[in-house]
Amino acid sequence: MGWYDGQSYEPGQHNPVSHDRLGRGTSAPAIIPRSDHVISRNGISPNAVKVLYRLKNAGYQAFLVGGGVRDLLLGREPKDFDIATDAHPEDVRQLFRNCRLIGRRFRLAHVIFGREVIEVATFRACHVQEDEDDAMLTDAGRILRDNVYGTLEDDAWRRDFTVNALYYNIEDFSVVDYTGGMADIKAGLLRLIGDPEQRFREDAVRMLRAVRFAAKLGFRIEERCEAKMHELAPLLGEIPPARLYEEVLKLFLGGTGLESFEKLRHHGLFAQLFPLTEKALEREGQHFPLTLVTRALENTDARIAEDKPVTPAFLFAALLWEPMRQRWEQLQSEELSPLEAIQVAGNEIVSRQAQHISIPKRFTLPMREIWNLQVRLEQRQGKRPLRLLGHPRFRAGYDFLLLRCASGEAPEELGQWWTEFQKLNPDEQAQAAAPAKTGKKRRRRSRKPRGAVAEGQP
Ligand code: ATP
Ligand code: MG
Repeated sequence: MGWYDGQSYEPGQHNPVSHDRLGRGTSAPAIIPRSDHVISRNGISPNAVKVLYRLKNAGYQAFLVGGGVRDLLLGREPKDFDIATDAHPEDVRQLFRNCRLIGRRFRLAHVIFGREVIEVATFRACHVQEDEDDAMLTDAGRILRDNVYGTLEDDAWRRDFTVNALYYNIEDFSVVDYTGGMADIKAGLLRLIGDPEQRFREDAVRMLRAVRFAAKLGFRIEERCEAKMHELAPLLGEIPPARLYEEVLKLFLGGTGLESFEKLRHHGLFAQLFPLTEKALEREGQHFPLTLVTRALENTDARIAEDKPVTPAFLFAALLWEPMRQRWEQLQSEELSPLEAIQVAGNEIVSRQAQHISIPKRFTLPMREIWNLQVRLEQRQGKRPLRLLGHPRFRAGYDFLLLRCASGEAPEELGQWWTEFQKLNPDEQAQAAAPAKTGKKRRRRSRKPRGAVAEGQP
């Protein structure tokens, strides 16, 4: 069996501390009546309310669950609304015209309202079948499939954290609590349901989720759970890179990226996601380069707080910059030109990082342009600066340069030059970018054939 092994749990107590005491018998959940909690239908998206009522009116059980309930209890605005029900996916589809079933092994219903998608999942139990062909755990205990329908109680116990296993019942507006989540919400505690080691082995992404929720909610991760993270971090190596990509976006583009970064490093998880970066940071003694990453994350968090757009391309450009920069320097010392060197380094870093996290091409391409622009932004003379202003990635490249300046890696004066240059009118720009009267520049021009003719031939 999986982590839900049918063992005892006393309602009202905290989540049991040992695996043995998990969920035995049919424990009654704590029911928190409407008068004793703060969730009101006004806080829930009208579309989610519609779905809940239509399920209920058709005779099914219907609950809001997961982050929606958790965030409402904390007075925060939920990101999305998930619904759990005893209706099977096909039943749900019968009820909603705007419904799509997704997933092959475990089918979920998506009810679509324009840009809002309400996810409706049938109660699920976590069973591990005995016969080998159909085994659902790997040797290391990782869940491969998770596809057995269950009861509300089963569904509660298979969830990750107690604070994510609270159910808002549309029938009577109460909150149903099997795992002690309500107390943990009040205590600001992230507590895995069941035995931490087993739950992390089943799905190592839960370690990333622990960090993400701790950063986002300002919650503390329970010690039992925290204690296992360093040791089990390497299990992230078994998670498909596409799934890690999704998780990394949530960690870094959720508004508390800097906090997530620090916590990921603290728990030894960052090294599993970005091994090249971790090594490069360690090599540098974490001085300047760490400033670039932390500044980038700080900026990103600030932009999100102001509802400004952010792009994964810029984020990954910053997260991978330190190994990039080190390799770039090394290649230049091997006689490659700066532009060649940065292109070769970019190729290498992108393909090595892809073994861990699969960043889509639509982001690796602009990411590499941001890097390449770091070479081109050094050229301040002639027509190039003006042409560069029209480059589709100029703004990102310039912002990136400013980060490098601020962290002491590029000359302040270069960033200032571009800042000033953009403020000038076209005439002034032409003048600012006119060939400087430096010896170096003159020498370069004199090598041109035309210059050679003007200066006379032997
Ligand atoms: P948010 O949407 O704010 O990021 P959330 O808690 O709603 O947070 P989701 O990824 O939307 O997170 O998942 C919804 C719910 O599904 C969770 O609250 C949790 O109960 C359950 N869940 C999600 N991922 C896992 C997992 N890896 N293991 C166990 N339960 C999970
Ligand atoms: Mg959610």
